Amino acid sequence: MSVNTPRTAIITGSTSGIGLGIATRFCQDGVNVVLNGFGDAAEIEATRAKLADDYGVTVRYSGADMTKTDQIEAMVAETEAELGPVDILVNNAGIQHVSPVEDFPVAKWDAIIAINLTSAFHTTRLVVKGMKDRGWGRIINVASAHGLVASPYKSAYVAAKHGIVGFTKTIALEAAEYGVTVNAVCPGYVLTPLVEAQIPDTAKARGMTEEEVKRNVLLEAQATKQFVTVEQLAATCSFLTTDAAGQITGIALPVDGGWTAH
Ligand code: NAD
Repeated sequence: MSVNTPRTAIITGSTSGIGLGIATRFCQDGVNVVLNGFGDAAEIEATRAKLADDYGVTVRYSGADMTKTDQIEAMVAETEAELGPVDILVNNAGIQHVSPVEDFPVAKWDAIIAINLTSAFHTTRLVVKGMKDRGWGRIINVASAHGLVASPYKSAYVAAKHGIVGFTKTIALEAAEYGVTVNAVCPGYVLTPLVEAQIPDTAKARGMTEEEVKRNVLLEAQATKQFVTVEQLAATCSFLTTDAAGQITGIALPVDGGWTAH
């Protein structure tokens, strides 16, 4: 590939929060981007157009549902047809549900495993062969500190995030000799809609106020006592796409304010 040929990235779950931050940073880096996720159609289109306009890159949107294999396959096929081969894949789409395991809704378990874990298997199997054939690729899985340690009442999420760390290591080994790196980033708490939404349920499960949940639960283990920012995560992902990071593969990189140092 010529140095002037823009790379193409798919970032799942990038209409909001961390994924949108990564997409924005990749656009700044000159990468053509496919946004994915749910939300208000007009807002998504405004975001897509603004990113393309601000950074002079091509930005497409796929509304593929990460629980639907055929929609994931269509997203990858449409990307390849419109933007060319996928050089960078970020598996970021994720949902959460907080409940004791004995009450955990079965449908929520199935959805969390499908979105937070199985969708990464599908996207990866669809793009990794091309990356290996071309001798360059970057796969970044947005796991979590919960990919390394557990918290109560998050059984499906912790299982999925530990699962994706194992998946990351496996594909890193399979792709290692082909110029393709595969890594997981493991954020601590970031104040995104996903986290805001779980505060009331955590408050209920633990009998606390919402302020107590923020102070005593979310930031309890985060040694810096600060939320991680979307921009810090996006910059970490950007670094993992560089040639400087070419020998970093198969890791689960905490960006967690010291949480997993405990
Ligand atoms: P968010 O809710 O702001 O964004 C989630 C994105 O996923 C949205 O774009 C949403 O539309 C999309 N999405 C949800 N279901 C989907 C589906 N079925 N198909 C396609 N897209 C779907 O959440 P966030 O906090 O930005 O989380 C992004 C990732 O970061 C998740 O994997 C999450 O587990 C992980 N993470 C978040 C934190 C945090 O503190 N916010 C910490 C660690 C890890």
